[in-house]
Amino acid sequence: MHFLRTLFQHLLPTACIVCTRHQTEMLCHACFAFLESQSLFHYPCCICCGVDLDDCSTEENQCKACLLHAPAFDRTHCLDRYDGVLQDAMHQLKYQRRLAIADALAFGWNRLALPHLNTSEAAVLLPVPLSIQKLNQRGFNQSWEIARRIRLPPSIEPLANALGRHHSDANQVENNRLDRQTALRHAFYIHPEALPKIHNKSIIVFDDVMTTGSTLQEIATLLKDNGARSVVNWVVLRTLRPQTQIDLRNP
Ligand SMILES: [Zn+2]
Ligand SMILES: [Zn+2]
Repeated sequence: MHFLRTLFQHLLPTACIVCTRHQTEMLCHACFAFLESQSLFHYPCCICCGVDLDDCSTEENQCKACLLHAPAFDRTHCLDRYDGVLQDAMHQLKYQRRLAIADALAFGWNRLALPHLNTSEAAVLLPVPLSIQKLNQRGFNQSWEIARRIRLPPSIEPLANALGRHHSDANQVENNRLDRQTALRHAFYIHPEALPKIHNKSIIVFDDVMTTGSTLQEIATLLKDNGARSVVNWVVLRTLRPQTQIDLRNP
């Protein structure tokens, strides 16, 4: 299979998911190098929620919000900024059903994120779930499609369906953080057969995009309530502080 894949890569030109130039790789060398230089693993970020620490650095490597009120999750690791070079690719994956983009995003995670991550503790990896209704509408869960292509050590078991999500029209509520938190309360559940794999275990939760952190907070709360020892978020794209986003556009 590997031989055929390599053969097809050379026979069939593809487009880089960032610059869209046609060549044989889904992430060309120049864009890969740029992504590597911009990776959030090279920037001071809150160890707890992953937000950048440019203007509120503390010796504890945590942002003020996390110091004031510790989230239910223990760590957050993010690959790139939400408004960085991968945003369009993520949108195409989610809204234009270009599933092949999950390959390129997982490639980026494997090469740029995985070497920075301590995976010795974790027992399972859970993608943030979609509701059944949303899953039927989209046809796939983008977080799982990326996560299942990550080269995990054999000690970590990826579980596609351990978490479930109730359908709610309140998913539309995006603007008001308080509304969103209210809408998300009890939005998630753990399938009973997965409970033994959660209890007293270190869990990785994988998400495509982290904005306010409300979704991951709800999931971590649920996992901790059911005996999880620790919860670490792996996130592809992270919304950072507005000031940083402006700086990035006008370097
Ligand atoms: Zn490129
Ligand atoms: Zn924080």
